[in-house]
Amino acid sequence: MKTVSETKIGFVGLGYVGTVSAAGFAILGFDVYGYDLDERKVTSLINRQPLIYESGLQEVLLDADISSRMHFVYDIDNLVDNADVIFVTVGTPESIDGSCNTSFVTQALESILSRLTERGLDSIVVVKSTVPVGFTQEFIDSLGNDEGICRNICFSPEFLREGSALDDFLNPSRVVIGTTDASIFETVAHLYGKYESKGVPILMMDPTSAELVKYASNSFLAAKVALINEFADLSHAVGANIDTVSRAIGMDPRIGNEFMRASVGFGGSCFPKDVSEIDHRSNSLGIRHPLIGSILESNRAHIERMTDRIDRCAKHQGIRTISILGLAFKPDSDDIRESPAIEIASKLLERGYVVKAYDPLAGPNALLALPKGIEILDNAYDCMNEAEMVTILTGWRSFRELKFCRSGSVRIVMDLANVLDGETIGAMGLEYHNITE
Ligand code: NAD
Repeated sequence: MKTVSETKIGFVGLGYVGTVSAAGFAILGFDVYGYDLDERKVTSLINRQPLIYESGLQEVLLDADISSRMHFVYDIDNLVDNADVIFVTVGTPESIDGSCNTSFVTQALESILSRLTERGLDSIVVVKSTVPVGFTQEFIDSLGNDEGICRNICFSPEFLREGSALDDFLNPSRVVIGTTDASIFETVAHLYGKYESKGVPILMMDPTSAELVKYASNSFLAAKVALINEFADLSHAVGANIDTVSRAIGMDPRIGNEFMRASVGFGGSCFPKDVSEIDHRSNSLGIRHPLIGSILESNRAHIERMTDRIDRCAKHQGIRTISILGLAFKPDSDDIRESPAIEIASKLLERGYVVKAYDPLAGPNALLALPKGIEILDNAYDCMNEAEMVTILTGWRSFRELKFCRSGSVRIVMDLANVLDGETIGAMGLEYHNITE
């Protein structure tokens, strides 16, 4: 077995997962290679200026020692020729029918296998993109029995969270390796040797079970967010305090206190599409799973209710201009994919409000996703200028430092991310609402 310094790892697909994983393995001492179809991404990483934001990523890329182990290439063959283990980290977006689109994974696998076969190499290919349950085994079976074709393929789900992805990579709760081949397992597990010595479980299972682990994990988490948000609404209606309620519920170890904060709803590149795929799969198998089927519906209804709450409050006070603070689907990220904030901002514009918006990082991405009529400002104070109502939709810590004052145009602060101190805002003579009240 090769040592860490001898083992070279490739990443095909340099989005959030590919870039962070490449940086993470470079930190662990491996030589890494990265390739993406999108040449802009390769160039940006060669220049050590990533197009995505992840906490700590820029620092790793600028660390001469770690960075000297990171190689980004424009030619996939160059990567395949160099890497002992190749991770597929391309996107698997949602198709129009709600299922998972695996075409990028298939294309990447075909390019990798064709080169491995041409060169007679037996490197291991690890699918890390989230793929439908059964995909990896079906792909392996489709290769047939011809001699010389590399079949060293396994599936290993990725659990990192945007916003703390590098930290998650370095401190995983578990590593799942989906293969029935002991030698593939051993080689891939060897990459995570440093974790094993820290007591991180490295689990071996068949690829189909590993694929289901990923979908079931995301469905559980999405359901938890949807459920606490339903209770937040109920709490609001009956005059209870959801923060107090969720703290008490979370003390039950069977439930736990993570993902128990009420919010404007879940979004991002994973929960919506993964829940949609598993719902689609249940339906196509003819199995009735009403709980899974209702997770997305619950989230959509919640986002609609949040929009209504802002709308009602603004109408009641005769307000026309609303400032939105926070557009990313979560704080510490520039990702706006499926962000509830983008949806709420668009709906408020449709309902006739003048909408201005600001996000510490996601402004440039939001510009491409928001309708033309919404002005995106470069700082929070410009965004609040002339607005009568401020609504906070993403819980950035930096919003806690904002100074609100009575002399400006703002009369109402609606803090749907529960980041501000309501008493301080109230003491300024402003009306304050949070998700609880
Ligand atoms: P992303 O959209 O940020 O990046 C995907 C990259 O793949 C893009 O840069 C694209 O140009 C590239 N690509 C597409 N086809 C290619 C090909 N044939 N060859 C080379 N590059 C190609 O996606 P992401 O957020 O990094 O997610 C990647 C996968 O990981 C998805 O399946 C996702 O569901 C899963 N995942 C994502 C997260 C997350 O937080 N983002 C967490 C866990 C799992």
